[in-house]
Amino acid sequence: MNITSIVRLCLALLCCLPPDCIFANDDLLIIRDGDLPILITAPHGGRLELQDVPVRTGDGLKKGPSGFFAGRDTGTEELAVRVVELLDQQLPGSPSCVISRVHRKYVDFNRPPEIAVEHSKAREVYDSFHHAARSSVNRIRMTHSRGLLVDIHGQGSSAATAYRGTSNGVTVEQLRRSFGEAAHTGEYSLMGLLAGKGWKVHPDPGTGREQAGFTGGFIVRTYGSSRADGIDAIQLELGIDYRRAEAREKSAEVLAGAIIEWGRRYLALTPETDSSGTQADN
Ligand SMILES: [Zn+2]
Repeated sequence: MNITSIVRLCLALLCCLPPDCIFANDDLLIIRDGDLPILITAPHGGRLELQDVPVRTGDGLKKGPSGFFAGRDTGTEELAVRVVELLDQQLPGSPSCVISRVHRKYVDFNRPPEIAVEHSKAREVYDSFHHAARSSVNRIRMTHSRGLLVDIHGQGSSAATAYRGTSNGVTVEQLRRSFGEAAHTGEYSLMGLLAGKGWKVHPDPGTGREQAGFTGGFIVRTYGSSRADGIDAIQLELGIDYRRAEAREKSAEVLAGAIIEWGRRYLALTPETDSSGTQADN
């Protein structure tokens, strides 16, 4: 990507993002600390080059989607940005976000630091991503006690399927404790709400264990609610049917809609009020 196209991309993003989003680390990350108890992350969708940094080789690491893997999750950066924008428009407040614009071949934000980077410059970007995520989780916990992190990914196994990754419920422990198992697996769980809007989800609401390889990575395990300093965290692994350019607007609308319904139910998010001052219909 040349300078002209980077500038054009930045301008395009700046036009569609709320004004308080910031570009950090020479525009390699899109970061915002909002005021709602919602955090959207997308670590693998970026495509920008890291100047003067060699691509990772993964020498000595197990290769594969759950080990060393340098491929992008195509379309997830754009999808995450659009979800943030829609939440911003439809809720009385702003969600937080940490979205990578740098290519995964240099840094993998969904791995522990010792296997995420192979160069000090990439480590700086890695630390910025996680510093922002930790700050937002801490702020959400301090302000709201509870919250939801949705970590958006792409998978190549099934084009039409959205896989849930919560370490089979571990990263949403607080949700299950407060509202019961149905909040995690039932009709009004996040996946249940997505299924109700036409998505093919796995596991099916009410049944089954998560697909091996898609059970949730470093981000949801680090910031999830099984930890004393975490919030409920759900990784979504989306097939290409949800991520391709012509499908993304619809996907963003469905996902933002499901997050809002989830938030009203489990985070007591208040609906927008209409012009008469009465609460809008759920
Ligand atoms: Zn991913």
